[in-house]
Amino acid sequence: MDQLGRSVTLLALLAAATACSQTNGRTFVQMTAPVVALTHVRVIDGTGRPARDDQTLVIQDGRIAAIGRSGSVEIPRGTRTRDLTGRTVLPGLVGMHEHLFYQIERPGSAPLVAAAPEALAKLYLAAGVTTIRTAGTTDFAGDLRMKQQIEIGAQAGPEIDVTGPNLSAIGEKPSPEAIAQQVERAADQGATSFKAYTTLRSAELKAAIEAAHKRGLRITGDLCAVGYREAAALGIDNIEHGIIFDTDLYSGKQPDQCPDQRDLFGDVMHMNVTDAAIQRTIGDLVRHGVAITSTLAVIESYTGRDHVIDPRIPVLLSSRLRDPYQAGLKRWSNPNDDWAQLLHLEGEFERAFAAAGGRLMAGVDPTGWGGTIAGSGDQRELELLVEAGFSPEAAIRVATLNGAGFLHKHEVGTIDRGHQADLIIVRGNPATRIADVRNVEMVMKGGVGYDPSALIESVAGSIGAYDVRLLMRWPANAIVVLVLLVLAVLINRMGSRRAGRKYYKNVWSVEGLNSPSRKAS
Ligand SMILES: [Zn+2]
Repeated sequence: MDQLGRSVTLLALLAAATACSQTNGRTFVQMTAPVVALTHVRVIDGTGRPARDDQTLVIQDGRIAAIGRSGSVEIPRGTRTRDLTGRTVLPGLVGMHEHLFYQIERPGSAPLVAAAPEALAKLYLAAGVTTIRTAGTTDFAGDLRMKQQIEIGAQAGPEIDVTGPNLSAIGEKPSPEAIAQQVERAADQGATSFKAYTTLRSAELKAAIEAAHKRGLRITGDLCAVGYREAAALGIDNIEHGIIFDTDLYSGKQPDQCPDQRDLFGDVMHMNVTDAAIQRTIGDLVRHGVAITSTLAVIESYTGRDHVIDPRIPVLLSSRLRDPYQAGLKRWSNPNDDWAQLLHLEGEFERAFAAAGGRLMAGVDPTGWGGTIAGSGDQRELELLVEAGFSPEAAIRVATLNGAGFLHKHEVGTIDRGHQADLIIVRGNPATRIADVRNVEMVMKGGVGYDPSALIESVAGSIGAYDVRLLMRWPANAIVVLVLLVLAVLINRMGSRRAGRKYYKNVWSVEGLNSPSRKAS
């Protein structure tokens, strides 16, 4: 049992090392005080109203206690004050199509998927995304764990609304009951949102919507087999990506069939936002109150425009992902007119949809060939909304208030008295130059100020890196213990056999005799 004891000690040491290597959520805190005043700052409040200059905010116990023109706001004695002349404060972004994994498509083989919940959570926070909805997951349990770790302060990251595993068609025939059960199960485990995925057919979609609504939860769709107008009529709450993926617009659409994307694009590419079919869809979506999540950055990543190269990505990747990323970049860095046309149409649609009273929200979708990533892709989304014709204030509303309202989180998404102090402080003025949203100096979540550079530096080279800590989690930890036990038993046996031989040797020599083998000869 000595060997076993040693193995257990080894395991304990490994666990201790793991605990030590884990960074605490507080590691990245730049500013924290019971009362903080931010003075002489420009405010873009998230409602779409024009920016206001020279404002003062008093933050107390994680909330905005007062806001108004500098000089008119009373600052309590002993308050920690920061003069923010030349800076702008905006609400923390509410990202509605986010993932805690990163993906690289590879021609001819399955995509490379790297679950990196810890790194991506930090990247979201560093970019000022203080609330996310994970619209799809490759590791539901991992996403739930990360949410909980952030809530207890063991990790730095945004508030997470966790979407259950993708709801996809299972068999040849639609199985609405099975889909409803999946929704039930995921809700029991902690999912607060759902996503119907491309292959889901109308009877199944209907069952999923009903099951989610029965629990008081909302469901979005990344749809293909079912078109947008049909989904709206079935009662879906939200649709991802926008009009260019609406298979209703494909001339050869068959009920419950997901057409080839190239065929769909072949038709959609030649359409205009003013076409009757698109106008009819906008009318239906608005009438049924279906929100749309804009994900312009991932669409742009296929256009080959200059902006497709995001210099912030390669530094974050582990060596394992660098070559596949460079291969993707090479493949998609030539100008692609088809995708450019699709991006243009999508921008036109989003403006028309919002103008018609539709709820447009924003997200990054860090998938595709790998050209978009958590946080920096959310900032790019804002730039693309402005390029599509939204005013900077309106674009910021899309990425803040609109998502917060959808999630029924009324204390975030806007800067107002009594609201949670989830704020981004940037250098410059995004109301005149939207790219200034990238100049993040501090991100506040619940009144605690985080250092964006420290967050980003801490995850450099880590996306896609193998994480030994995974060995400490179920079921890997059970396998590790089992292997160690077997090893311990084996070592123990070998040891006792050797000890046995030694014992006989000693007995013979003590009695002045040779070893049994020598005696036999
Ligand atoms: Zn996605």
